Amino acid sequence: MDMVGRFKLLVLPGDGIGPEVMGEVWRIIDWLEKRRGLQLEISEGRVGGAAIDADGVPLTDGTMAQALSVDAVLLGAVGGPKWDRLPFAQKPERGLLRLRKEMALFANLRPAIVFEALVDASPLKSDIIRGLDLMIVRELTGGVYFGEPRGIETLADGSRRGINTQVYTTEEIRRIARVAFELAAKRQRRVCSAEKSNVMESGVLWREEVQWVHDQEFPDIELTHMYADNCAMQLVRNPGQFDVIVTDNLFGDILSDEAAMLTGSLGMLPSASLGAPAADGRRRALYEPVHGSAPDIAGKGIANPLAVILSLAMCLRYSFDRGAEALLIETAVRQVLDGGMRTADLMQPGRARVSTRVMGESILRALDKAGG
Ligand code: NAD
Repeated sequence: MDMVGRFKLLVLPGDGIGPEVMGEVWRIIDWLEKRRGLQLEISEGRVGGAAIDADGVPLTDGTMAQALSVDAVLLGAVGGPKWDRLPFAQKPERGLLRLRKEMALFANLRPAIVFEALVDASPLKSDIIRGLDLMIVRELTGGVYFGEPRGIETLADGSRRGINTQVYTTEEIRRIARVAFELAAKRQRRVCSAEKSNVMESGVLWREEVQWVHDQEFPDIELTHMYADNCAMQLVRNPGQFDVIVTDNLFGDILSDEAAMLTGSLGMLPSASLGAPAADGRRRALYEPVHGSAPDIAGKGIANPLAVILSLAMCLRYSFDRGAEALLIETAVRQVLDGGMRTADLMQPGRARVSTRVMGESILRALDKAGG
């Protein structure tokens, strides 16, 4: 927050459709400032290919420092064919990875919500996914993707052995569990913890520590435990049983993509990544759509802006304490979809195909009606 109590937001539109969809976010922020008294101190920066072209690196130290000083970062998308040939260390994606690493974002939040109007976009039967609203909380900075020892070694007989190590500490598990319980407290008050305690010691520890956090700090939230393979199955069999699922880095990688597919529409999926709370209880936070820079449609004005608009809603709820405004946006999205508006990616027979801009305008009109 700044001296007069305004939240600080850094906007990084990025590449491809990033700036196009972010254009609609700017208009919604403007609406929130004028009509709902939201006061923000906003700065804008470059990330990814845009930063490579202008600054020679995918994220400058200055932008990184800014990201560390604000209450939240809202990012569009990075990458594109123009920068594909660069060495790995110089690619646009490095900018995003640097943000995640230096902001120490250990909790990845991926909601999977099925809007009634898009129930047919899911590959699953409508009666299975109707009304779906679940949240996957994935541990993002530990586990088998980072554990040591790791590598590929050559054995005495000339064959090779690949090694990765699944490792979690008490504190790593407790802090992600707390994020899940805190979220559940604002939702349907149910957490399901997924691990493989039947075959992994790290899974036994995971289960015990999540249970400990529950018993000591959140006894009023319902906690269940599930093996991760069963959880994968239950997600397609009966996803409505879940409210918040908390799981490790590897299982979360897989389960969150599976949950995303339940909704069937990439252009609709927001996400948040959160860091540790500071002394004042606030967490570093990065909000971004799940989709990439969609170079195949960039510049055509047809991208779906709803994933980044819903990312803004998450930012309002989790970083700016503006749950009412978050709900307003989510309700506006629902109403516009119910009214038959579709960007090309969501197109169904008998619906009105609209551009990025018209979709943004329709959301503004729905906001006017609901909360003006
Ligand atoms: P993508 O998500 O960009 O696109 C996949 C498909 O979905 C494309 O056909 C695209 O047109 C469509 N699509 C995605 N978002 C859409 C939207 N909002 N509206 C309408 N259609 C949409 O994934 P990709 O094609 O694998 O990757 C393209 C580039 O994006 C690559 O350079 C990749 O590295 C990068 N990428 C970035 C991120 C990120 O910034 N977080 C994530 C994934 C991919």
